[in-house]
Amino acid sequence: MTDPIDRNGLGKRFWEKKPLTKMSQKEWEALCDGCGKCCLNKLEDADTGEVALTRVACRLLDDSTCRCAQYEIRHQFIPECIVLSPDNIDTHAYWMPKTCAYRLLWEGKPLYDWHPLISGRAETVHDAGISVQGMTVSEWEVSEDEWEDHIIEEPL
Ligand code: SF4
Ligand code: SF4
Repeated sequence: MTDPIDRNGLGKRFWEKKPLTKMSQKEWEALCDGCGKCCLNKLEDADTGEVALTRVACRLLDDSTCRCAQYEIRHQFIPECIVLSPDNIDTHAYWMPKTCAYRLLWEGKPLYDWHPLISGRAETVHDAGISVQGMTVSEWEVSEDEWEDHIIEEPL
């Protein structure tokens, strides 16, 4: 599987040397491990703020590659899709997957060995069972009032 993210030519373990706010756009993009978990719909309890993950995926998620099928032009279809940046990560980190590289670094934690930046291969996120590959249903198929029937534990 070809890694759709260009991770070539980056400094060795740059994420351990630079804070998120100092990263170039290429470095920032390379932090994404391709797990697809941020593209699953979540249910947030209005009273407790607790976030439950469901296996109901955004209509643009390709379940076999765990990639957005229209990443560059996704906002034409899904205007609410968040563009994560160093400026807004403080407000989003709480709902992001526990293994997400952006959240891990934001929390001051190291990346896992299966991260493509460390393993050198995009597949390792799937091999490690961290991604959503083959486990989602599309939001085309499940109405929002049934999402709670599809709550799952985050694959870790
Ligand atoms: S959860 Fe994080 S690492 Fe996984 S696909 Fe989303 S942004 Fe990338
Ligand atoms: S539009 Fe693409 S990147 Fe955004 S949630 Fe949907 S699949 Fe993920």
